[in-house]
Amino acid sequence: MKIIDAHMHFFKVEGFDQIAREAGGENTAEYYIKTARENNVVMSIAMGNARSETPLFGGITPRVPDLAGPFDYKNYNQPKEIAYCAGVDSQNMTMENAEATANEFRRYLETPQCVGIKIYLGYNYVYAVDPRHFPLYRLAEEFDVPIVYHTGDLAGGHGLLKYSHPLTIDEVAKEFPKVRFVMSHCGNPWLLDAIEVAASNENVYLDLSGLLEGNFDGDVFYEKHKDYFSYIRMWLNYIDRYDKVMYGTDWPLINIKSYIEIMKRVIPEEHHQKFFYDNAVRVYSKLQKLL
Ligand SMILES: [Zn+2]
Repeated sequence: MKIIDAHMHFFKVEGFDQIAREAGGENTAEYYIKTARENNVVMSIAMGNARSETPLFGGITPRVPDLAGPFDYKNYNQPKEIAYCAGVDSQNMTMENAEATANEFRRYLETPQCVGIKIYLGYNYVYAVDPRHFPLYRLAEEFDVPIVYHTGDLAGGHGLLKYSHPLTIDEVAKEFPKVRFVMSHCGNPWLLDAIEVAASNENVYLDLSGLLEGNFDGDVFYEKHKDYFSYIRMWLNYIDRYDKVMYGTDWPLINIKSYIEIMKRVIPEEHHQKFFYDNAVRVYSKLQKLL
């Protein structure tokens, strides 16, 4: 079975080098591509973290992947198996520069590899439904790409949880019914809240990236966290919408091989094709041309 990793990071930063080692990996482009191939991961979507070039229109430029070298938006220079979501610095946005920021993002969305827009709720003290984001939502609708939110727990105790709570997505999903929204990490640990928001909004999807961290043996780890995994499965089975849940890792935070093993046990086998591949192609509609 071919796999799409719908949420990872491709970011050259010291902190990630250490995190990658703890997960039994290495934060380099070569390591990622080799490991992805070994595990049948044919495409990965990087959530942009690195700052890009200076603005052309006076807006805030998107954050991008740069693990394979400084990013060049016109001549894509990251591996062909890596697409990306342009990251939003919500905190630097104002009502005054919101339209100009959308114009900066447009330049990136016009290229094939930019397949979505990522908003870092909680790390940025701005709600999903804040009007500063609206020009970006209209842009997402125009380009038929999803808006991806960080939801749930915040790494290292940074940020404010009230902005990253999954219930905050309900309102924006109804305000922009033609835009697809993805809640990353399934709102972990507010899993039920996230699943309920996805269940009651046709345009909201979930990715199961970064639910755990580090290097682990599939069996031992699964046994230890059995209750946690059966809780997720209980609610996913309850809403029975396996067309809405996507595989993702949050690499380099996890070990690719063990994460696939764990997720194969969490998601019932008859839904693996949708979970590991099909749903991502539908939600990230621009992927079709890259596959
Ligand atoms: Zn992430």
